[in-house]
Amino acid sequence: MLPKLDRESIVPLYRQIYESLREGILAGTLPESTRLPPERSLAERLNVNRSTVVHAYRELVADGLIEQRVGSGSRVAPVLRGQPERSAAVPWWVTLPPWRVGEFPMILGELAAKQEPGKISFVQGVAPNEPSPLEELAKSFSLASRDARLVLSYGDSEGYEPLREAISNRMTHRGAKTRSKDVIVLTGSTQGIMIVAQSLAEPGDEIVVEVPSYPGALQIFQICGLRAIPVPVDEEGMRVDHVEAILRTRRPRFIYTMPSLHNPTNVTMNADRRERLVTLARRAGIPIVEDDPYGELAADGNAPLVGLAPEYVVYLSTFSKTIAPSLRVGWLSAPSTILDRLLLRKQAHDMATSLYVQAAIADYLSRSYDAHVSLLRKELLERRRIADEAIAQHWPRTIRISPAVGGFYLWATTPREIRARPLLDAAERLGASFLFGEAFFANSGGDHHFRLALTAVSRNEIAEGIRRIGDAIVAVRA
Ligand code: PMP
Repeated sequence: MLPKLDRESIVPLYRQIYESLREGILAGTLPESTRLPPERSLAERLNVNRSTVVHAYRELVADGLIEQRVGSGSRVAPVLRGQPERSAAVPWWVTLPPWRVGEFPMILGELAAKQEPGKISFVQGVAPNEPSPLEELAKSFSLASRDARLVLSYGDSEGYEPLREAISNRMTHRGAKTRSKDVIVLTGSTQGIMIVAQSLAEPGDEIVVEVPSYPGALQIFQICGLRAIPVPVDEEGMRVDHVEAILRTRRPRFIYTMPSLHNPTNVTMNADRRERLVTLARRAGIPIVEDDPYGELAADGNAPLVGLAPEYVVYLSTFSKTIAPSLRVGWLSAPSTILDRLLLRKQAHDMATSLYVQAAIADYLSRSYDAHVSLLRKELLERRRIADEAIAQHWPRTIRISPAVGGFYLWATTPREIRARPLLDAAERLGASFLFGEAFFANSGGDHHFRLALTAVSRNEIAEGIRRIGDAIVAVRA
């Protein structure tokens, strides 16, 4: 079954491996459940780079022809239900246009699998159960229901005017002067990241991203065919000196950053770097995309970057972290010169964001939001305090944690001898899980980092979960 390679051919080697295996699978010579050789050993036997085989396998996974599981390698996938036997004819899904996706969907798929009863799972970035917005939110929905004719219609693509007004007032209050006509309401800020990626860049273009960065955004950029130029983040935020060096020789389409309570490190960019970043953006004529879901939760209430240079920043935020992700309501604000371009995409995505939900949020903002956010801030500080205490007790000093106040996340860096994936395997055996660092790295790397979402568990499970991870650290070192 060893694929025959023609090294003179213009067909890339990964493609030759992929086609040969695909032919075998479709013709039935590699029947269902056949185990394919591990990537490394096939690479050695074929005398190619391991990444060549990884690429070929990834394409087969994307076609649904093989399945990969951590620990048990790659196997030929079961025949699709309703398809009595494999046909040598090429099925339609194999002829789809190239799928530009790399590892992210699989990583995100693995995440979903990590939620199990009995396990303390620090995986998902969801708001804690307490304080709960639900009681007051239910009242807001009930109040919104009184105007059935309004809330059961489509509404404007830009969003519900009273909500845009409330959002712009809040942003202005936070130090970023905004008018309601600069705001477009989104169905989650994820939609905004997609709209921005499609509106400000074309496939093949380069963009600057932080490393680590938010996996959901990295996935969108990858689907859009954008190429990430990574810039490290340290304890003061994005390394703006790196951005400066990059802009000397390259012209990325935009700079994607989370300056306040960055996901995953929880770091907030200092004032000096904020100034330097917008100065650079102005000088080079390159926009900044500021993703700010957590800014309102910062104890010291940093002004959004967009306040410093409204004409150079597209701002994104959401109610997912401060109220609830199930609402699927976020927003963007952008320079008026590009609003139409963004709005057209928004319309193509979903016409408009649910007016019912927008009306309820507008009411909630006017009555309960401030009190809720202030309780939430306190809760996040308390959770971090509990985590720090448990870490001091149960983890070796060689595990470094990001020095952050508040926010959802705790970012850990392991010493050279401890890699995050085996640590996760060990922690799972002991009933705790977290997100390994690779998910946050645009191109490669991350295996010496992991993220805990301190909000994903109940408060009294934090210390126990950290203790279990401490035991896992001992186990992987042994
Ligand atoms: N940006 C960042 C940095 C996030 O952490 C998240 C949610 N995890 C989002 C965007 C997406 O949020 P939404 O629910 O509004 O789509």
